[in-house]
Amino acid sequence: MIKRKRYTFKGLVQGVGFRPFIFKIAKELNLVGFVKNIGIGVTAEFQGDEKQFIELNEKIHKLKPENAIIESIQIEDIETIENEKEFKIEASSHDQIDTIIPHDMAICSDCINEFFDNKNRHYQNFFISCTNCGPRYTMIKKLPYDRENTTMDKFKFCKECEDEYFSPADRRFNAQSTTCEKCGPRYYGFSFEENNEIKFSRNIEYIDFLSKKILEGKIVALKGIGGFHLIANPYDDNVVERLMTSKKRESKPMALICKDIEDVKEICYVSKYEENLFNSNISPIILFSKKKDIFNNVSDNLNTLGIMRAYTATYYYLLRKTNLKFLIATSANISKVPMIIDQNEALEKLKGISDILIWHDREIYRRCDDSVVSFVNDKNIIIRSGRGYAPTYKRLEKADKIIAFGAQEKNSISIAHKNNIISSQFIGDLDSKENIEYYEKTINDYINLFSFEPEISISDKHPQYYSTQYAKDFAKTYNTKIYYLQHHVAHIYSVMLEKNIEKCIGFAFDGTGYGDDGNIWGSEGFIIDKINYKRVFHIDYYNLIGGEKAIKEPIRLAYYYASKIDPLFTQRYFANSKYSNILEFIIKGANIVDYPLTSSMGRLFDIVGTLLNVGETNKYEAMIPMHLESIAEKSEKGYYETIIKFSHTSILDIMQIIQNIIDDIKNGIDKSIISAKFHNTITKIVVDITKYLKQNYNISTVVLSGGVFQNRFLLERTLNELNNHGFNVYINEVYPINDGGISAGQVYYGYLFKKYSEE
Ligand code: ZN
Ligand code: ZN
Ligand code: FE
Repeated sequence: MIKRKRYTFKGLVQGVGFRPFIFKIAKELNLVGFVKNIGIGVTAEFQGDEKQFIELNEKIHKLKPENAIIESIQIEDIETIENEKEFKIEASSHDQIDTIIPHDMAICSDCINEFFDNKNRHYQNFFISCTNCGPRYTMIKKLPYDRENTTMDKFKFCKECEDEYFSPADRRFNAQSTTCEKCGPRYYGFSFEENNEIKFSRNIEYIDFLSKKILEGKIVALKGIGGFHLIANPYDDNVVERLMTSKKRESKPMALICKDIEDVKEICYVSKYEENLFNSNISPIILFSKKKDIFNNVSDNLNTLGIMRAYTATYYYLLRKTNLKFLIATSANISKVPMIIDQNEALEKLKGISDILIWHDREIYRRCDDSVVSFVNDKNIIIRSGRGYAPTYKRLEKADKIIAFGAQEKNSISIAHKNNIISSQFIGDLDSKENIEYYEKTINDYINLFSFEPEISISDKHPQYYSTQYAKDFAKTYNTKIYYLQHHVAHIYSVMLEKNIEKCIGFAFDGTGYGDDGNIWGSEGFIIDKINYKRVFHIDYYNLIGGEKAIKEPIRLAYYYASKIDPLFTQRYFANSKYSNILEFIIKGANIVDYPLTSSMGRLFDIVGTLLNVGETNKYEAMIPMHLESIAEKSEKGYYETIIKFSHTSILDIMQIIQNIIDDIKNGIDKSIISAKFHNTITKIVVDITKYLKQNYNISTVVLSGGVFQNRFLLERTLNELNNHGFNVYINEVYPINDGGISAGQVYYGYLFKKYSEE
């Protein structure tokens, strides 16, 4: 008997070759009907007999496109239609819009092969892509995902591209990003050296020119998928030095790009998990552990190197043409402002930084930085969520109409919208005019793109965060309710959202966050049960000597607290410090009550790092803690005895730790050992507190989050130790473990609040 059924597919089903896939199997099975994109996903009607439907269902599950995520399939029986002869792809209908937006995808192996195959039509097509790869998020202007709603709309297909686009059997059938050398984007250029335009007739000539300039030791700026990169030869010390200083990066590590994981293996340790992610279509910057001393000037002498796989044809070509295994590819921005995406801005701002500027005429509709990831055991930690991850989706039934505004630093925003939590890309620190503009633009973008209607706003508690002020205004304008969530609690909720947890012990260790008592928190232990939380652990408050200045100049803290233990030693030990003048002033002049109280774990790492002379100032964020981690001796298992007052809120005394470290320094113990013992001490404290809490609350689910846990030495040991003691330990693997994950935690709190306050 002939039946007709309507299938509605929801999930990541647009922009991933889903309609061609349905078309192909329907043809193979001789079904008639049609498939089309609709606002909420993809719908298809099939007409055929029972046997055909059984095979259809099998094939849908077995053969679905690599990048598609089918979250649900709804199947209804409908009236059969007579005289239908074939299966068709129909135009999209512009009804209700709440589909998932795909992320940008690194070039696939088929496209790489075609690019280098001189018999192929796409030979040397620098904007090559297909249904499995290419830009998406950065070029979608609105939904549904059709060519005319992307920034590719201005490139009219040539005859051959049109044929590919409309041939169901073709790899580029319905691929909105597809184009060729004949009909696609063009490169343009400007030389700052010569102060004139660079003009060639073919795209390849621009890239050949770039290769030549890179080998001559020039810094070149190139527009890519989500923004401009600065590119240079990492083997050339002069150009590296120039890039470091001209970007005003102050020695901040820079990322490398290469085309083959085997090249990475020569200089770094590579696990199978790292290799898989490296070769995936996400291809983020991965922080690999160095095997040998190499590229020290690129990595600020740290023991890790950030490396990503070439994710466009242009990068593959540049690496081949220059015959360099690695190139520096760092985002083109002057510190504290967003990455440049527009050529006019690049012409204005990259003068004096890059020597050559090359751009193309495909508009970047949405900025997206390269993502940064590191691994602990088999788990990946997201340091920055951008290309390949953003927007991040998490299915959550009944989550709707909530917006979360994130934190001041490493901001991202999240919305709960039609049963999904959608989180934005990395936006940045909200302390420059440019970043604030980008922040507000992103919020408006999400409202328009998703036709989002907010009812609840969630903000951090910090009264001085720009995000808090913005959230207040927003709540008024949109007439939403507003709730304020403590920063470190939000960190824990970000993991709880990922892992569907509603009750746990949580440790949030980071730099700063506004506490419920108005002090600066940063080493908090909580018991969280649905929407209630209790603070059960923190470092005993200490004064942040120098206030805000202590963050950049932790020597103020180190000197003050070391002096309290041994003033003579401290004076001698820091005699050569360039801060020596102000240090004595700190001791004599410091009116300690003038300085805020903090329980910050980040600052404790700063103090210890400064005592071990890994640096006096944080030239970039967490520079001293990163170097402290970098020198820690892996084989060392020792730790320092500590004083913890166990109680309903257990409290750790840091003076005892500092005392022990000073004793070891006096005894000539190697810094690598002291650093390892300090890390082990923090792990031991977490384990001891957890054991104590388990006795009192009978909870064995433990969550770790916060920027301090970007420290792999600490995170790995703490994870392993807690596991060894039989706890179920969870960390962030989807949302950034630092403040980039705050908005996800906030939105989950909003969801739980709605759920449990309405019950
Ligand atoms: Zn491809
Ligand atoms: Zn074409
Ligand atoms: Fe934080």
